[in-house]
Amino acid sequence: MARRKKIYEGKAKILYEGTEPGTIVQYFKDDTTAFNAEKKEVIDGKGVLNNRLSEYFMTGLNTVGVPTHFIKRLNMREQLIKNCEIIPLEIIVRNFAAGSMSKRLGIEEGTQLPRPIVEYCLKDDSLGDPLVSEEHIAAFGWASPQDMDDILSLALRVNDFLSGVLYGVGIRLVDFKIEVGRVYDGDFQRLIVADEISPDSCRLWDMETGEKLDKDVFRRDLGNLADAYSEVARRLGVLPKISPPAGRPTLIN
Ligand code: UDP
Repeated sequence: MARRKKIYEGKAKILYEGTEPGTIVQYFKDDTTAFNAEKKEVIDGKGVLNNRLSEYFMTGLNTVGVPTHFIKRLNMREQLIKNCEIIPLEIIVRNFAAGSMSKRLGIEEGTQLPRPIVEYCLKDDSLGDPLVSEEHIAAFGWASPQDMDDILSLALRVNDFLSGVLYGVGIRLVDFKIEVGRVYDGDFQRLIVADEISPDSCRLWDMETGEKLDKDVFRRDLGNLADAYSEVARRLGVLPKISPPAGRPTLIN
């Protein structure tokens, strides 16, 4: 079998050259990191779950007219995506205070925000992804004012879609992070949702019990991460109804 060309290896994913021009294969690893990779572990089955969950959310977004990079799932750990130029920003949308916002502003975790709040961080691990303002973004040319309008609109549409879908299965979308990429269509360019949408990049709390079903389970040592992600997948109908043994999700193809 011909060896594929690896384009990039990140903390949780590997990108390979795709089969068609303009495509990339995105491989989901089991590697799990937190606190800028100071805490690391391999969690059996996590990559398989995130591949399925990201497929589920991105397919839904495509269907309701929010453009994403997702083309199709290839196998248990890989999906075919559109090649795009990633804007060097992490776009965070918050519905309830948690994590760094709670620490920074002294707001108790779980406090409902008066409206969704969008924040931008510069994608730079060596700096710990610092929070930046639109002034920084414009002045340093990381994105144009037109891009920022489009990014805000995409972020809020993703928030509405995800909040609704998750509400339907008893899960509160506390906050999430997306990345956005630029694709060229002849003379036109447009922005699409890229990277992944999974419990690695969202805060998901059970609506009744407040139980955490996201990466905070790993960050804060609250239990088995694969079990938490399996629960999200099971509720969304991405997993078969019968619970698999802990940490080893059985998936229907
Ligand atoms: N997030 C992410 N990648 C990052 C930073 C944050 O996916 O590099 C997600 C995180 O999982 C959470 C949201 O963005 O759902 C807000 O994260 P926060 O700023 O509170 O940072 P944290 O407390 O996770 O350091």
